[in-house]
Amino acid sequence: MSQFVFPPAPQTQLPVIGQSATFPVRRIYCVGQNYRAHAREMGSDPDKAPPFFFSKPASAIAQSGTRLIFPSRTQNLHHEAELVVAIGATAQNIAPDQAFDTIWGVAAGNDLTRRDLQAVAKKAGRPWDMAKGFDQSAVIGAITPIGQVKSLETGRITAKVNGGLRQDGDLGDMTWPVEDIISHLSRYVTLMAGDLIMTGTPEGVGPLQPGDTCVVEIDGLAPAEFAYLP
Ligand code: MN
Repeated sequence: MSQFVFPPAPQTQLPVIGQSATFPVRRIYCVGQNYRAHAREMGSDPDKAPPFFFSKPASAIAQSGTRLIFPSRTQNLHHEAELVVAIGATAQNIAPDQAFDTIWGVAAGNDLTRRDLQAVAKKAGRPWDMAKGFDQSAVIGAITPIGQVKSLETGRITAKVNGGLRQDGDLGDMTWPVEDIISHLSRYVTLMAGDLIMTGTPEGVGPLQPGDTCVVEIDGLAPAEFAYLP
């Protein structure tokens, strides 16, 4: 039996509503500009492009309800309120009408973004990793099993900063519904149980400062919330 040269990093996990067992996270995929008004505020035409994807490391997850260190190397850190889909089955090249059966559950999440570094990367045609995949860049709430979810087609999604409403959208305004996202993504990679998909953010993204609290809420789900240390 082989041994590790040092103890491996712990498995990233998320709490699950109504049970003590946790959800083991494998990969985190993210969808860019999946709400029309947000695509426009980013300077894109939402009616032209198919969905595009990027990813964050699983180790970038910060648990909801925690106090976080404000990220380094940014003067323009943004919140992005997002529905997070937790995958529970293997999916490769599947059709949208097969996609629902691969969903284990859903959660509220915040795709924290160093917007200034992203703008530089976009302009230079460089990768987004340092803008999107930094430490504690994905704050995700407890997962609600899909059997307890009323609807993925509609539902209010909000982000509040220090109690003030900053984003106020509806899941029904997604350009690509959840099933379409899973279908598209499954043509690029083999989705497996434990994968998470952050499904894009509505309009109203904006800056966070040290000391701010930020809460993402979606109808019927547990919130994703945190406070930055001063
Ligand atoms: Mn996002």
